[in-house]
Amino acid sequence: MAEQSANAPGAQRFIPPGAETLDELRTAAADCHGCELYRDASQTVFGRGDESARVVFVGEQPGDMEDQKGLPFVGPAGRLLRRAVDDAGLDPASIYLTNTVKHFRFELRGKRRIHRTPDLVHITACRPWLVAEFARLRPAVVVVLGATAAKALLGPAFRVTRQRGELLPWPDSAQHPEDFRGVPVDSAGKRADTPPAQLLATIHPSAVLRADDHDKAYEGLVTDLTVAARALAT
Ligand code: SF4
Repeated sequence: MAEQSANAPGAQRFIPPGAETLDELRTAAADCHGCELYRDASQTVFGRGDESARVVFVGEQPGDMEDQKGLPFVGPAGRLLRRAVDDAGLDPASIYLTNTVKHFRFELRGKRRIHRTPDLVHITACRPWLVAEFARLRPAVVVVLGATAAKALLGPAFRVTRQRGELLPWPDSAQHPEDFRGVPVDSAGKRADTPPAQLLATIHPSAVLRADDHDKAYEGLVTDLTVAARALAT
């Protein structure tokens, strides 16, 4: 296992100048060494989905199955999320799914790879990919899934438990809006123009899977996503 490094060069230098499409970004991200997480993970797990999606979902990081398949949200949590999206009145075919951090962070226990929450150094290093995705997708609503993604976008003081299901202005509600607005999104320093959008935080679908009262947790997720669906309809 690679040890965690205190510093990381960051992903920006791996974003080719003039990369206009998500496919170009995805190809470039496969070679990202912006932090040390690439060393132990199987591959970069970039976002996927509808390129004209008006709703972008942001999770924490790929899990074990996503790492093996190279696709985000393909495990049980992803299946549950798509069902909740459908039940909330959003079209599961018209969404884009991505993560705050694009490589799986884990520790080995015997042969098992156990999830480890990414640190701030990984979140910060990987942010250029997320900002580049936002710049290309220009979503109307960003749905943040779980505490790590919420902290990455909204800052450490944000509590999903208190503020879930609330529509917030984006990127104005970010702890540092300048991290997401008019920032360089490729290695040549091209700046992103981020149109105003809205953001909504909710629990991660994996938290629903772990919940003692599964039905109640699922219902809460659907209720939150219904707020996003209504925002799109207005
Ligand atoms: S986690 Fe992000 S910054 Fe780190 S190597 Fe992977 S893609 Fe690059």
